[in-house]
Amino acid sequence: MGKYVRLRARLLACGEFGEDDFRVPEAAADGEITRAHCPGYLGRVVRGELDASEVRAIGFPWSDRMVERSRRSAGATLAAAREALTRGWSANLAGGTHHAHRDRGEGFCVFNDAAIAARAMQAEAGLQRVAIVDCDVHQGNGTASIFAGDDSVFTFSIHGARNFPFAKIASDLDIDLPDGTGDDEYLWHLERGLDETLERSRPQLAIYLAGADPYEDDRLGRLKLTKAGLARRDELVLDTLAARGIPVAIAMAGGYARDIEDSVEIHANTIRTARARCSA
Ligand SMILES: [Zn+2]
Repeated sequence: MGKYVRLRARLLACGEFGEDDFRVPEAAADGEITRAHCPGYLGRVVRGELDASEVRAIGFPWSDRMVERSRRSAGATLAAAREALTRGWSANLAGGTHHAHRDRGEGFCVFNDAAIAARAMQAEAGLQRVAIVDCDVHQGNGTASIFAGDDSVFTFSIHGARNFPFAKIASDLDIDLPDGTGDDEYLWHLERGLDETLERSRPQLAIYLAGADPYEDDRLGRLKLTKAGLARRDELVLDTLAARGIPVAIAMAGGYARDIEDSVEIHANTIRTARARCSA
């Protein structure tokens, strides 16, 4: 949790952002959440009625603050998507909770922010095609399950084959990488995955999960990307989208480096790259 506060501070300290570049997001409302989640699950979360196994699957204890944080985090990706449609890009300095399914949470994820944002843009802005580009080192199983059989939201996940979740759910496109995959091999696969994603989905909006956990010194990843490799990853994704005029909402997703400042630096670089390359 500490990385989010540090990320904001680091971005302010780098001199490229002012206080007014940052906004406190609205909490996602019930009607926004239930476009992606079943009302019964939302109700159990809000009332604190999750059973012990559901709480265990999420991985942190229930509290009112946990509910509020989860709503705000989803609200931030939703706000970023709205903003991206007018400014070219925007980012949630948290979010990327891609293990949340329609009717259950998992792996530190309560609500699926990308799914809620995609559904909101379909409802509010009339978008017909959205692509979710998930570069977190863990597979986006919740997102895949929410949009299974739905051609209007394309799900692409590039991740470590042997990482959590161990029972993966098929995205529209999955690239499973072996342990120890390094920069060049990763970027080779990512470039092809991106091309296929954009070719097949022709999105009007992309939601980019820029996980910092493919990093070589991450505690929960099994890949071996360097910081320079992750910077090239961000450039590849953001330049490819910008070249095609596709607005992008970015969420940070995972990052569990042995030294927390490494994860913070990787996330901050993503935001700085977006500012430099995606502003409309
Ligand atoms: Zn992850």
